[in-house]
Amino acid sequence: MKANCMICGKEFDKQGRRSHAITCGPECGKVHTRQYMSQYNRQKYAENPEKERARKREEDPKKRRERVRKWKQKNPEWVKEYRRKLRVANPEKFAIAAREWRKANHDKSLAASRKYQASHREKYMQYLRKYRAANSKRIQQKVREWRRANPEKWKQWSLMYNGNRRAAQRLGIPPIIFAAMKIKDYFSQTSESTSAEDENPGD
Ligand SMILES: [Zn+2]
Repeated sequence: MKANCMICGKEFDKQGRRSHAITCGPECGKVHTRQYMSQYNRQKYAENPEKERARKREEDPKKRRERVRKWKQKNPEWVKEYRRKLRVANPEKFAIAAREWRKANHDKSLAASRKYQASHREKYMQYLRKYRAANSKRIQQKVREWRRANPEKWKQWSLMYNGNRRAAQRLGIPPIIFAAMKIKDYFSQTSESTSAEDENPGD
């Protein structure tokens, strides 16, 4: 007897072991089973949601985690949307989580922000100007603290700064231009030998 597969519609033979078959073969059979089970589970859940929730709670947590993980892997779009909704609903919580992550992944976070700063140069400079204007007192305080904590480095830095200023005056250019030239020079040197930071000049 001939019949049409209820999944793909193809005609197939209902013979022997397959005399009660409703699909053309194992592939369509799998699809049908999945559809059927999904419908069955949904119906069961609708009939008694409290009981089904309790059953899920009692599920082996390890198995449950594994099941959820697999499902999330198959539905990345859903996960993205869900996370976005959560973030919008709990901005405070996410800010804390982001801070914690940055603390735990300092290198990664630094690399990510450097990358962002490099690709959004203008935006970053704007942000920096705003930040400096809004936090000038705090920045000054930090600088004072750093000077107290690193007297040697500070001494070197101020010697260098004053030297730069005098050299710039001699050359007749603004000190900041001279400093920028020196910084450029310094970085072109350190890109070849990275041990320059360990040296201790000026003693
Ligand atoms: Zn089929």
